Amino acid sequence: MDLGLTGKTALVVAASKGLGKATALQLAKEGAIVHIVSREEQTLKQTRAEIIKESGNDEVYYSVCDITDGNAIIQAVAAARQHTGSVDILINNAGGPPAGKLMDFDDDTWQQAFELNLLSFVRFIRAAAPIMKENGSGRILNIASSSIKQSIDNLLLSNTFRAGIVGLAKSLSQELAPDNILINTLGPGKIHTDRVDQLDQKTADLQGRSLEEVQRESQASIPIGRYGKPEEFANMAVFLCSSANSYVTGQAFVVDGGMVKSIN
Ligand code: NAP
Repeated sequence: MDLGLTGKTALVVAASKGLGKATALQLAKEGAIVHIVSREEQTLKQTRAEIIKESGNDEVYYSVCDITDGNAIIQAVAAARQHTGSVDILINNAGGPPAGKLMDFDDDTWQQAFELNLLSFVRFIRAAAPIMKENGSGRILNIASSSIKQSIDNLLLSNTFRAGIVGLAKSLSQELAPDNILINTLGPGKIHTDRVDQLDQKTADLQGRSLEEVQRESQASIPIGRYGKPEEFANMAVFLCSSANSYVTGQAFVVDGGMVKSIN
């Protein structure tokens, strides 16, 4: 299948590691011109070098951006356009919010999670959509969580704001379709990244068990019997934001090895 990504420009948010990095790498392998953002210049430089080496595509750019800062987001979108020529594809992503339950979080923590895990998505779309409208087409993919289908114990903030992303994307799929801008949401379910290791370590600490034991049990509970690899997530992400996807919009999918048991 021709994904039609050669020469397309992609802004990948929160992409110094994990799922963002894996998606940026797959896009670069498919010939896209990629711009990555996250908070630390040194890490971004290193990630850029790794993507260039692994993809053989040297059209990889970066800018430093704390995505909880609205002005920084406007600047990051402008930098992406300046470096790559446009923004054909936006991959919205963010670091995960803290784990915990109702009485663990005060208003400040709720506000921070809102700004990181929902408002940043709105802000990136608001800055990138006018560029896509000028182009007459665009693709937006939001990276959320398997909690878009089934809530996850002890992750109240994530469960709340990921649902908001799905509502946002469904509404925007209606508003942006006349401009041929398609928007979808992809929920990872235990794709092996630092985030998963950190959450498993927290579980291990709370239960007084080893990380290895917790991860063995967790992987055994997934029908496919293991955690996913970041590139397995990225393959689906890249299809949804490619030209090969011309009719799927407003949808929410999980990449989870069969972990989620809900039907919808
Ligand atoms: P990760 O390995 O922790 O990577 C997070 C990325 O976000 C890093 O590049 C980090 O870079 C960047 N970041 C964090 N805060 C930022 C900020 N304020 N501004 C800009 N960049 C920021 O996480 P991941 O596993 O790839 O997960 C990505 C998202 O999917 C997270 O929201 C996570 O909760 C969610 N998720 C993942 C899984 C999974 O199976 N992996 C499951 C459910 C949900 P810097 O720290 O250098 O800025």
